[in-house]
Amino acid sequence: MKDTLQRFLFENLAVRGELVHLDATWQAVLENHNYPLPVQKVLGELMSAVSLLMATIKFNGLLIAQIQGNGPVSLLVVEGSSDKTLRATASIKEEKSDFTDESLQGIFGEARLVITLEPEKGERYQGIVALSGENLADALTDYLLRSEQLDTDIWLVADDKQAAGLLIQKLPETKETRYSSNILDVSDAGSDVDGWNRIQQLSSTIKDEELLNLSAEEIIHRLYHEEDIRLFDAETVSFRCSCSRERVAKMLLSLGAEEVKNMIEELSIIEVACEFCNHNYSFDAIDTEQLFTSKIPHSAPHAEQ
Ligand SMILES: [Zn+2]
Repeated sequence: MKDTLQRFLFENLAVRGELVHLDATWQAVLENHNYPLPVQKVLGELMSAVSLLMATIKFNGLLIAQIQGNGPVSLLVVEGSSDKTLRATASIKEEKSDFTDESLQGIFGEARLVITLEPEKGERYQGIVALSGENLADALTDYLLRSEQLDTDIWLVADDKQAAGLLIQKLPETKETRYSSNILDVSDAGSDVDGWNRIQQLSSTIKDEELLNLSAEEIIHRLYHEEDIRLFDAETVSFRCSCSRERVAKMLLSLGAEEVKNMIEELSIIEVACEFCNHNYSFDAIDTEQLFTSKIPHSAPHAEQ
């Protein structure tokens, strides 16, 4: 199975859908870290969820989903880009890693879901909801309803090999929301008043094994064979980490020459590992001296990409 995002639309209904299947993209995250199974499951689900949301945003830039909690897992981060690349990481407190309680509460304790939209141009937007409900899909559904006024249903699943998800969404009456898409003129839809309920009911019969193991076409046929569906071209999703030596250098510059000099005196080499991909960046005395004598990075006010 490939790493694909499949968008579809119910003709004559103001309802759209997305299916995602992650294979190599998800494997790339797991390769870099040794997460316990319950953490893998929820991180894979969050990665599927970000793929589904990413497919619906209208701007170029980043969509970042974080779960922040006071439990054994203090942080999950999944970052999706409008170019359909993703990266993900989890922070686990060492002392509590047996995860006897695999519920959201057991994994994260008291937690919140934070969604940040970072357009390349324009305002950054952040939405926060308490992480409540049985599972991540419930929390996201709640977030979309509260902060975007969008009726959405989401199904998410992940194991140690694949992650997948299904989203259906009632298209908004207005085109003001950050997530609405311009794929349908809503004015000629909506004559079928039971449409949304029917699609919700049909979708809810999806089983985890089906989401994980069937192709998008097979799932759509299995769930909606009596509906009139428009399929869009499938898009490819992949893993990509945006870390770079330049970014680490900027971070060191922001610490200041004195602080970095002290670190070099103490450690002789400064090693910075990327928490997403584990890539290691090292700076020795010569590197750091060059950093602070070269005028290029920190004197250019618009060096940020
Ligand atoms: Zn990285």
